[in-house]
Amino acid sequence: QPRVFSGVQPTGNLHLGNYLGAIANFVPLQDEMPAIYCVVDLHAITAKHDADGLAGVTREVTAAYLAAGIDPAKAIIFNQSQVKEHAELAWIFNCVARMGWLNRMTQFKEKAGKNRENASVGLFAYPTLMAADILAYRATHVPVGDDQKQHLELTRDVAQKFNNDFAERIVELGLGVDNPNPNPELPDQLYFPLTEPIIAGPATRIMSLRDGTKKMSKSDPSDLSRINLKDTAEDIAKKIRKAKTDPEPLPSEMEGLKDRPEAENLVGIFAALSGLSREQVLADFAGQPFSVFKPALADLAVEKLAPITGEMNRLVADPGHIDAVLRDGAERAAAIAEPVLKDVRRICGFLECR
Ligand code: ATP
Ligand code: MG
Repeated sequence: QPRVFSGVQPTGNLHLGNYLGAIANFVPLQDEMPAIYCVVDLHAITAKHDADGLAGVTREVTAAYLAAGIDPAKAIIFNQSQVKEHAELAWIFNCVARMGWLNRMTQFKEKAGKNRENASVGLFAYPTLMAADILAYRATHVPVGDDQKQHLELTRDVAQKFNNDFAERIVELGLGVDNPNPNPELPDQLYFPLTEPIIAGPATRIMSLRDGTKKMSKSDPSDLSRINLKDTAEDIAKKIRKAKTDPEPLPSEMEGLKDRPEAENLVGIFAALSGLSREQVLADFAGQPFSVFKPALADLAVEKLAPITGEMNRLVADPGHIDAVLRDGAERAAAIAEPVLKDVRRICGFLECR
């Protein structure tokens, strides 16, 4: 049956891209199907992490979920490390996924950079843990930003290979469900669903304010590259004022943004925050210089983000409440994932002696 799963890493500096590309899209889905929103702290240790700060950042991401409107009475909110089935299933998937599949992952190439020999094995295996996060709940839908598309394709490949490799045992043990989209390459009975990405909403890929060819990221060393959910009105105004642009005024048509990635990004952010189409934004600002457009964008960003920032700050001041939400969520998540792992152990054929 349908179920949505998604996650955000507690790596600090939650930004506008995380909000518009992911968290804001989580909210309406909680009314459409059972939903699980995870703070993926096991992913946050794949690169050098600050152990002293991890708990605080985990609470901050939780606060952002709540401030954005995710309701813990509807959706499950928890942190990944508290449900051990994620790590267990990730190991099994490490034995299903192929080196060649992981070698093609662009996120690993970007994050490891030139120093690949020194990247952690965990950073390389990040996508199999992500597949485990999703499939431990047999989730069917995953809302994410555009950058995660490739990892979701890998999740489908892992599910498909597991379903194929163990097709007979899945049927023998009576654990399969009818494949909703029968396909000659797949058995009629599947254990894991072939998860669909939901890459939707007004801004699936917000770019860095300093470089229109790079996505806005928590891990970008330049704080000027992103608008953080915790930024003050002054920070936001300053970052937009300093955002890289070109000297041309805004065009009247989308055509005129071709080969102007920074200008296109700012217009896209304005459109996403205002709910207008990019065409409408250009119609309103055609011929105007950035000295006019940028202050308007800064005012709009402050207007939209200030309520969320205020609510996040209020929530973070009461860690007891956040921890109670996470504790309850972890129990509800474990109640779903434990029986899945029990099935998976039987499918894999492990001797059960306790
Ligand atoms: P990091 O640099 O640590 O990887 P990140 O900014 O990429 O941080 P993640 O926690 O990896 O954030 O991703 C959380 C969600 O936010 C994912 O669904 C991801 O696709 C989405 N996302 C991240 N950056 C952007 C962006 N610039 N535009 C739209 N969505 C984004
Ligand atoms: Mg990321």
